[in-house]
Amino acid sequence: MAITAKGYQRVYDPASKRLRMEHVLVWESANGRIPAGFVIHHINQDKLDNRLDNLELLDPLTHKRIHSGCELREGVWWKPCRKCGALKPVTEYYPQKIWISPWCRSCKIENAVRNKQRRQESKGRTESQWPDCEPSFDRGTTIEADGESFPRLGGFRVPSAT
Ligand SMILES: [Zn+2]
Ligand SMILES: [Zn+2]
Repeated sequence: MAITAKGYQRVYDPASKRLRMEHVLVWESANGRIPAGFVIHHINQDKLDNRLDNLELLDPLTHKRIHSGCELREGVWWKPCRKCGALKPVTEYYPQKIWISPWCRSCKIENAVRNKQRRQESKGRTESQWPDCEPSFDRGTTIEADGESFPRLGGFRVPSAT
């Protein structure tokens, strides 16, 4: 028995004669092999709580959303706005290159109006970007979750490592 650097329990698997992730073994012993490309998620976010009830098979996109603070409500994903903090349905966000904008529609509009006012107030100054004009995507960084890493979406909360 050993806990990995990322906080997962590894146990010896007599079948494969290797150390394997306990949560994977628990899930697979009940359900069979994990389908390719899927991940096992710890529902209560406790990476050491490997009871079968706490394990859920998810596709990577759903998994990423859950670790980004999103909630699925009656078939619609709700997402926290980076700007105002409100949880709103994804239909309240403008689509962007990577998934959707981290700010909800009303925050984007409010921000655009404010930026326009600022530009008018500062005639003569160069048309440089205002620091909070556009949400930034930290394309280089990743979120670590359940032993997988995901591209980090701009402004998303990184799940607390509990
Ligand atoms: Zn997870
Ligand atoms: Zn907002």
